Amino acid sequence: MIEVRDLVVTYGAATALDHVRLSVGRGEMVALLGPNGAGKSTLADTLSGILTPAAGTVEVTGRLAHIPEGRQLFPDLTVEDNLVLGGWRAGTRDPSPVFEILPALAGLRRRRAGVLSGGEQQMVAFGRALMSRPEVLVVDELSLGLAPIATRDLAAHLVELNRERGLTVLLIEQNARLAFGVCERAYVLEAGRVVAEGPCAELAEDP
Ligand code: ADP
Ligand code: ADP
Repeated sequence: MIEVRDLVVTYGAATALDHVRLSVGRGEMVALLGPNGAGKSTLADTLSGILTPAAGTVEVTGRLAHIPEGRQLFPDLTVEDNLVLGGWRAGTRDPSPVFEILPALAGLRRRRAGVLSGGEQQMVAFGRALMSRPEVLVVDELSLGLAPIATRDLAAHLVELNRERGLTVLLIEQNARLAFGVCERAYVLEAGRVVAEGPCAELAEDP
């Protein structure tokens, strides 16, 4: 569902992605790992069409949603209004299917997003992405700034969506242990290049 070939992305004179190849098949849950500055968010932004390749191609089959690093909620709007805005492009205004998938959100629907905890805000960002009924979900740093329990809870929801609803997932993480726990396959990015790829079981043995 995601096919990236020889992708080059630059910021002015700086090359952020240097001939990157990556593919994610339907129903797969794949991790993209790497240190700060490796180019992970640049790849996510290219997949969602925010950035344009300098060279190479990016092919996405099906509707893609992206949970950006930093979440980017509207802090003064309620949870429900943040969700409704997330459905705007896809023409879905009813958040109830999302409340069924993420029941914790239903209890928060009237709260302002800005007063919620980091874990709750990430749940809202997750729900907002689901409002467009995506077939592919790109999650940029699920665990960023979250307590381990909130991270585990969100990861469990992701796994459920992947296994039970066939959602294809690209999980971008600095936390390799988390990613290895839920993904079968991973790519490791360093300084804009893929330096390792393969089954998580093999990569975990050879850090
Ligand atoms: P990341 O952890 O993904 O590298 P950062 O916190 O470094 O994120 O970046 C936050 C924001 O600043 C992003 O929108 C990113 O595109 C932008 N950014 C990162 N590095 C630079 C840079 N060298 N010059 C300008 N903007 C940058
Ligand atoms: P990661 O998400 O893996 O932390 P990024 O994709 O944010 O990495 O950044 C990759 C490289 O591109 C870094 O060197 C970063 O400083 C640079 N970069 C990111 N965003 C910008 C930007 N808006 N302008 C200039 N350089 C940027």
